[in-house]
Amino acid sequence: MRIAEIIRAPKRNTELHPWNTGKVPRSSFPLKSVSRLQAGNEWAWRLVEFDALDRHFRVLIRLNVGKEYYQAILGMDDPRGMLVICHHELHTSHRDWHCHVSPCEVSNIFPGVLRDNASMRVWPRSENSECSTRFEIRQADAVTLAAERFGFTAQGGFI
Ligand SMILES: [Zn+2]
Repeated sequence: MRIAEIIRAPKRNTELHPWNTGKVPRSSFPLKSVSRLQAGNEWAWRLVEFDALDRHFRVLIRLNVGKEYYQAILGMDDPRGMLVICHHELHTSHRDWHCHVSPCEVSNIFPGVLRDNASMRVWPRSENSECSTRFEIRQADAVTLAAERFGFTAQGGFI
């Protein structure tokens, strides 16, 4: 299974959790090391869960309006630890919209880490490190952006 298949697949049991701030507990996004998710209260985050292709997926949406930083992280539950497949991001300190994505077979991703540096690639590839996009993302838009990227809008009448 690869990311394109996951995006295209019909989603079931989509569940949208409420907004939180600060640290993301391991129970929400079960990584072995959560240090990079131990952010302060200026970070808002929200979890979406769904089933697809007989697997369970989580999308962690993180937003820091002051820092102009948005990311939606797609992970798949696995007995070895969560497999993090993609970070869809806009952070105006550099670049425009981009993904850090593992385009490989998902089962080959190193489990339990936020970024498997051996398999992750930045897409689109760009030499341009400037960000030309105005950061206008607010909590009201955050889920829709993730839903469009990962393909769970059609099944979720909740947005
Ligand atoms: Zn990035």
